[in-house]
Amino acid sequence: MTKLTLRELEVRGQRVLVRVDFNVPTEERDGQIVITDDTRIRESLPTINYLREEGAKAILMAHFGRPKGKPVGKYSLRPVADYLHTLLDRPVAFSHDTIGNIPEEIIAHMNEGDVTLLENVRFHPGEEANDPVFAESLAGLGDLYVNDAFGAAHRAHASTAGVPRFVKQAAMGFLMEKEIQYLSHELATPAKPFLVILGGSKVSDKIGVIKALMEKADTILIGGAMANTFWKAQGVPIGSSRVEADKLDLAREILDLAKKKKVRFLLPVDAVETQKVEPGSPGRNTSRVSLAHGITDGWQAVDIGHATISLYEDEIARAKTILWNGPVGVFEIPAFATGTIAIAEALARSKATTIIGGGDSVTAVKQAGLADKMTFISTGGGASLELLEGKELPGIAALSDRL
Ligand code: ADP
Ligand code: MG
Repeated sequence: MTKLTLRELEVRGQRVLVRVDFNVPTEERDGQIVITDDTRIRESLPTINYLREEGAKAILMAHFGRPKGKPVGKYSLRPVADYLHTLLDRPVAFSHDTIGNIPEEIIAHMNEGDVTLLENVRFHPGEEANDPVFAESLAGLGDLYVNDAFGAAHRAHASTAGVPRFVKQAAMGFLMEKEIQYLSHELATPAKPFLVILGGSKVSDKIGVIKALMEKADTILIGGAMANTFWKAQGVPIGSSRVEADKLDLAREILDLAKKKKVRFLLPVDAVETQKVEPGSPGRNTSRVSLAHGITDGWQAVDIGHATISLYEDEIARAKTILWNGPVGVFEIPAFATGTIAIAEALARSKATTIIGGGDSVTAVKQAGLADKMTFISTGGGASLELLEGKELPGIAALSDRL
C-alpha cells in the first residue's frame, strides 16, 4: 500500500479529524429516527476505539442523506451521536455546527480519548462543491486527518478530498484499509479458479467492472436484468423484460471480448417469468432458453430459473475466489428472490474467499441472514464498483503517500 495508515501516525494528544461513513439507512417510527442497519457505524469502531485507546481526540465528520447544502432537520446526525454513545458506552459530544465557534469551543475542551461528532458536512454547500475555503475551515479543527469513509471515497468532496491538503498528515483508517485489501489487493492475485457473479439492473452500470474483471476472472456468471440485454443481443426472445435496448452492441462487444480473453462467460439458461413485477403476481419457470424459445410475449424475466441455479451452484462449488455484485433477480419481492438466496447460500457453503461487492447484493446477503458466512462484505456501493473498475478514488488519492 502506498498510502499512510492510521498505525503510522503519532496520535497521542492530537486532534484527529476522522471522516467516517455514517450514512446509514433509517426509518421514522412514532416521530423518532431509528437506525435500521448500523453496519457502517459498527465498522468504524476499530478506528474510533484505537484513537481513544491511543489518547487522541477524535473529531468525527460525516454526511447523512442529501440535504443539498443547507441544514435540514431530518438529516441531522444528532441521532447517530446518541447511537454512537450507546455503542461506545461513553459520551460523544455533538457539535450542532460543522465549522466555526461552536465546534472550536467543544474541541478546545476535549480530553485525550474523547470523541466529538460534527453535524452533517452536507449542511454546507462547500462540502459537495469541494470548496477549499470550507475544507480549510474543517481542517483547522484538527491536526491530523484519517479517512475511514470508504462508502464516500469515490466523491471528491471537501471532507474527503479537500481537508487532506490542509493538514500535516492524512492517513487511511482501518475500515478503508480493509476495503482496499479485499476489493483491490486480494483480487489482483486471486486464488484460481476466480469466479465473478454479476447481476443487478443495468449492463451500463457495470461495464467498467466487467471489462476490468475480464482481465482476471476465469468465469463470469450473469444474472439480473443485465442478462436480458445479453440475451436480446444474441437473438433470444425476452418478451417484455427490462432491457437496455441501446446497449446491444455493447453487450456483443463484451461477449466477443470474453471469447478473446478466454473467459467463460455464462448467461442464465432459464428464468422465472411473470406478467407483473409486483408482490403476489404469479411466476413460472421457463423451459431452456434458445433462439427459438425465450421469455413469453408479454411476460418478464424476474429471476434465474432452476436449471440456472444448479449450473451456477456447480460453478460456485469449484471456485477458490468468488466476487459477487448485483442480485440475480427482483429480490425485493420474496417470490422472485429464490435465485438470489440460492446464490447467497451457495457462497455461504463454499470454502472459497467470498467477497460481496456492495450495494443491493449486500442487502440481499443480509436479508438471507448469511452475512457472517462471507469472507468480506463491502460497506460501499458506488465506491466498491469504482474500486473494482480499477479507478483511483479521490478520497484515497488525497491521502499522504507513505515515505
Ligand atoms: P448492486 O446495488 O448490488 O450493484 P444494482 O443496483 O445494479 O445492484 O441492481 C439491483 C436491482 O436490480 C434490484 O433492485 C433488483 O430488483 C433489480 N433486478 C434484478 N434482476 C432484475 C430483473 N430480472 N428485472 C428487473 N430488475 C431486476
Ligand atoms: Mg444498487
